[in-house]
Amino acid sequence: KVDVTDLKKNFGDNHVLKGIDFKVAQNEVVVLIGPSGSGKSTLLRCLNRLEEPTSGKVIIDGNNISDSKTNIDQARENIGMVFQHFNLFNNLTVGQNVELAPVELGKMSKEEAVNAAKQLLSTVGLDDKYDAMPQSLSGGQKQRVAIARALAMNPDIMLFDEPTSALDPEMVGDVLTVMKDLAKKGMTMVVVTHEMGFAKEVADRVVFMADGKVMEEGKPEEVFDNPQNERTKTFLEKVI
Ligand code: ATP
Ligand code: MG
Repeated sequence: KVDVTDLKKNFGDNHVLKGIDFKVAQNEVVVLIGPSGSGKSTLLRCLNRLEEPTSGKVIIDGNNISDSKTNIDQARENIGMVFQHFNLFNNLTVGQNVELAPVELGKMSKEEAVNAAKQLLSTVGLDDKYDAMPQSLSGGQKQRVAIARALAMNPDIMLFDEPTSALDPEMVGDVLTVMKDLAKKGMTMVVVTHEMGFAKEVADRVVFMADGKVMEEGKPEEVFDNPQNERTKTFLEKVI
């Protein structure tokens, strides 16, 4: 599904990713953890070429994302991404935010998109917000709209970059619940998060990054209860 080999990314002399091997299987939920600046966001952004890799290979569903001949717009249609700061279109209603991409890209008729949007808003617990403007929503509600919007393209994989870090604590649970439901339905997911409870409960695999490298990975109980790498131990002592 996702197959990253020896991925390197430099920003000038800053070697941010130093040879990452990273795989995600169909239906797998991978939680990516690690200290600030370790390269987690950069790795995620290389998966849909929001960042161009310096070297190495990124294959998603057989598409070589790192090859400049690949039609990246088409590849991106199957990759949903949710950011820390929702990035909703504030001049559009909630419903229009969700309908926009599938209609613009010719994936659905307007009518199909409206039905899909209502259905998706219902699955994220926002039935009654179809006509609302984003400004009228709480952070947690906005993030759930952002998830619905990403799902509207019917992606094969969802990437989440700290989706709950900008939320007030009381909003975090609702967003995590939506993500848990997605995982249960078999969505393939890569999630950068500091929510270790979510990682323990939902992740099939936890990947710990530091200094632009994968230092350790394994099942959540292995990584959390019996970390092998000193860097992992130090990191977990700080966050748990
Ligand atoms: P955090 O937990 O704080 O989000 P992170 O693990 O996601 O950290 P990245 O955002 O991937 O870390 O950043 C890794 C390094 O890459 C940092 O040193 C950062 O300054 C650098 N970096 C990231 N994006 C850019 C960019 N567009 N231009 C230059 N440097 C960048
Ligand atoms: Mg980041």
